[in-house]
Amino acid sequence: MNVNDYYTLAKNTLSERRYTHSVNVAAAAVRLAKKYGEDPLKAEIAGILHDITKELNAENQLQLLESGGIILDDVLKKSPQLFHAITGMVYCRDKLEISDPDILSAIRYHTTARADMSLLEKIIFIADFISDERDYPDVDVMRAECEKSLEDGMFYGLGFVIPDLVSKKRAVHPDAIAAYNQLALSKI
Ligand code: FE
Ligand code: FE
Repeated sequence: MNVNDYYTLAKNTLSERRYTHSVNVAAAAVRLAKKYGEDPLKAEIAGILHDITKELNAENQLQLLESGGIILDDVLKKSPQLFHAITGMVYCRDKLEISDPDILSAIRYHTTARADMSLLEKIIFIADFISDERDYPDVDVMRAECEKSLEDGMFYGLGFVIPDLVSKKRAVHPDAIAAYNQLALSKI
């Protein structure tokens, strides 16, 4: 399959709204890749496929987790909204036979982030925040932070997401905390 096939797959798999989001994330990822020195094709593929399993039902998500040999930690077990990043990775690896570890891990960590992220992981995490259709209140600030550096963008994004989870009394995945702490400590 080539990149055009992945667009067709996304169009046939996702709702119109989420397909538009995925196209916009791919475009933002390509732009960021060119700006920050990553392979634009890898960014485009990871971008168009990052949410490819997001509309699968819980049963199919769990099947993919099981067939992919994924062991869920305590937070993941109770956070079905995080499943799609992992099942997306499994789907791309096992069904689409994408073997590039950069693309797979960029999809795997696009929701939680983690410490020591690769360039492509950061690009996909951020592209998901600043894609064209996003219109949350501070999106302009987030876009400006991402132009300063990927780390500033990550820091701003995580600084928005983590308090939001806390305000809803939801658990915060340890990978998100680790990503946030690494960025915070780098600023001291
Ligand atoms: Fe997602
Ligand atoms: Fe997304």
